[in-house]
Amino acid sequence: MKKHLLTPGPVELPAEVSAASAKQLISHRCPDFSALFERIESKLSMLLKCDGPIAILPCSGTGALECLAVNFLGPKDKFISVSCGAFGARFREIAARTGAACVPVDVPFGEAADAELVAHVVMENPGCAALLLTQNETSTGVRNDIQKIIASLPQERPLVFIDGVSSVGAMECFPQEWGVDGLATASQKGLLTPPGLGLVWLSKRARAALNSRSCPSYYYDLKLHYKELEKDSPANPFTPPVSLYFALDSALDLILAEGADKWFAAHRRYARALAAGVEALGFELLVKDAGARSSGMTAFSLPGGDAEAVRKGLRDMGVETAGGQGAYKGRLIRAAHYGECGWPELSMLLGALFAASYDYNIKKNCCLATAYKEWKKEN
Ligand code: PLP
Repeated sequence: MKKHLLTPGPVELPAEVSAASAKQLISHRCPDFSALFERIESKLSMLLKCDGPIAILPCSGTGALECLAVNFLGPKDKFISVSCGAFGARFREIAARTGAACVPVDVPFGEAADAELVAHVVMENPGCAALLLTQNETSTGVRNDIQKIIASLPQERPLVFIDGVSSVGAMECFPQEWGVDGLATASQKGLLTPPGLGLVWLSKRARAALNSRSCPSYYYDLKLHYKELEKDSPANPFTPPVSLYFALDSALDLILAEGADKWFAAHRRYARALAAGVEALGFELLVKDAGARSSGMTAFSLPGGDAEAVRKGLRDMGVETAGGQGAYKGRLIRAAHYGECGWPELSMLLGALFAASYDYNIKKNCCLATAYKEWKKEN
């Protein structure tokens, strides 16, 4: 049976990416590796529309978030943490473990952060070292409008750190253009690469702030990473997972060959059509505001039905999704759409959902027809 991996990371790898990761290893201290590193840096800069360098760390997304925290926060600092769900809470916990004091802003599950509210909290709490935001809250499928939030902040503001673990690659994320100071992301979601690479980008302002800080972690010390990155032959200070660099290089080719704008638009269209399709089937979308829905993943429940049983039905057909987290454990189906987002992929998922939920008192109308209407609309 063909398996379809629709979890929000790791994701199904395109064949070219799998093949690239299987290539023979090269030394990480040779010109070929530097060339590979430079290619990846330049493609990431294109995707994120930013000047480099971007530190590439051998870790998952949590490690990239921890890297931001340990380089910029410590016991004498205060930070503002905006949480819309499980991953906002995790970023907060990571930052709090540096000993810094937290000003929490909790947004109800399924809702996006309100730009005015965030601006108000920033104004009320002068002197904070950092503001933590999550671009795509993977536990709910909410997309926060980072550009709008930053634009509404007062001039005197903390460094703005973004968890882009489940957004980068699947949707617009332009940290330099938007005024982000630190972006952390990972390889295994929108970047269509196996898990194992954490990426960290810093603004000029954050680079300057870095100079006055000392990092208690050796492995995550960004000063060490930047020193190596800025050499004529860029490298990683420690032994990197070379196979993952091959894979990331190939995945970036795939996204950029399609055209990042076109790629993002295809994901938006898929998400919109999927939302219409699951609603037509009788599922309830967790995120009510269509403008706040993620284009990388969709979360929905089954009123009066058993979400876990539907997930099992899907699994029996070879379709693996994720369930709910925290308060939504057992009540949600979370389906990711990071890879190829064509009509065949969409109709496979809707068809599988239709079959997996058939026994629950669910509407038996033609969901595919409803989704197709959305699909045909212009972006
Ligand atoms: N932040 C977000 C928004 C995520 O979706 C995830 C993983 O799902 C993480 C952080 C943690 O990343 P990892 O599991 O790669 O450590």
